[in-house]
Amino acid sequence: MAERVLIREVGPRDGFQNEPEIIPTADKVRLVEMLARTGLKRLEVTSFVRADVIPQLADGPEVLGTAEIPDDVSVTVLIPNEKGLENALELRDKFDEVNLFLSASESHNRANVNRSVEESLSGLERVVSRAREEGLRCEGVISVSFGCPYEGKVPQERVFDIAARLAAAGCGEIAFGDTTGMANPLQVREFFGAAFERLGGVELTAHFHNTRGQGLANVLAALDSGVRSFESSFGELGGCPVPKGATGNIATEDLVSMLHEMGFDTGIDLEKLLDASRAVRDVLGRPLTSHLLTAGPVDWHEQSR
Ligand code: ZN
Repeated sequence: MAERVLIREVGPRDGFQNEPEIIPTADKVRLVEMLARTGLKRLEVTSFVRADVIPQLADGPEVLGTAEIPDDVSVTVLIPNEKGLENALELRDKFDEVNLFLSASESHNRANVNRSVEESLSGLERVVSRAREEGLRCEGVISVSFGCPYEGKVPQERVFDIAARLAAAGCGEIAFGDTTGMANPLQVREFFGAAFERLGGVELTAHFHNTRGQGLANVLAALDSGVRSFESSFGELGGCPVPKGATGNIATEDLVSMLHEMGFDTGIDLEKLLDASRAVRDVLGRPLTSHLLTAGPVDWHEQSR
């Protein structure tokens, strides 16, 4: 049997929040429902960040409350703080997991959420504890784990210390973000090799951006180190609010295609996923950078003729 790789689709959150135009709520709901029916098992639907901070996701509660999502899809929402969690809990039956984030470097954390790393960590520990009381699974996401646009190299031990704190607080999954696309495959292989030794019993997830075209090479390096959980965004949407110009997550369709060609099972129907990516391209009205959207899936039948 093919080995399973889990993918969390983050486009409706990581992607939509970075679009200059606000996507109409009805389109968001339709796109979330299309994604939810591709066979994927994890879907980040929206965030509960304040509307004046991220107006693109101000309709998060409405999207989450309206979208019809099959029961076997684990729904994630991003929670910035205790207030965000309390707001989300009004829709408690609509989601299964919370994503809590901070940055590995002081400067990026300050630029993103205007707090020190320690302030973020102690706040998130309280959020995790409250979320666990509600039976929610918790994912800690550590941005700029592989390099910071302001500080350069981020010591691995520092990233692992933050991860260990989150795990001790009750996060069953830690995602390491290459938020501005600074990682290289050798670094990634070494990083996850050490991470598995340091963080036993925690699911380790890789969240790569394709900012410099090295996203899938980094996926391969992570696979080699034993990572079987990834985050990606349909259409290669996404980026990071700070600094400007930090573009796209790896495209889910490019990731799924590579994994399927390598013999891994994702549960995802690539054609249905491409339908969703075409639909979001139509909504946004601009070309997207996803390779599969341009080239289509590998067709061995055509090539052997
Ligand atoms: Zn991202």
